Amino acid sequence: MDQNCIFCKIIAGDIPSTKVYEDEDMLAFRDINPQAKVHVLVVPKSHFAALAEMDAAQAELVKKCLVKIPAIAESLGLKNGYRLIVNQGEDAGQTVHHLHIHIIGRESMGEKML
Ligand code: 5GP
Ligand code: ZN
Repeated sequence: MDQNCIFCKIIAGDIPSTKVYEDEDMLAFRDINPQAKVHVLVVPKSHFAALAEMDAAQAELVKKCLVKIPAIAESLGLKNGYRLIVNQGEDAGQTVHHLHIHIIGRESMGEKML
């Protein structure tokens, strides 16, 4: 746990969040500033900012997140697909330095980005 990290505080329950899934490895909760009808963040329960800093145990947690995301997406009603985004660093606009996977959906993304 990083005492200055907002997502560590959410994982610890010190800051409230709207949880959609939780197990021993990860927490998924609604983004406070949703960019689509469904916007959920999936965070591994280990503090590191970026893939470049990840150790083997943390890589295992990210793998578990990716394996679980289809079930989380299904539980959110994302039958027609969804987009995953992992911002890495300043140029990408990463504002929270605890690795997180955005799940975005419930509306067509069109050709807005990517
Ligand atoms: P980033 O730009 O770092 O990839 O995304 C960080 C995301 O975290 C943003 O979409 C922002 O709205 C969300 N966020 C920041 N603080 C909080 C918070 O306290 N609670 C929740 N639920 N989401 C947050
Ligand atoms: Zn953290």
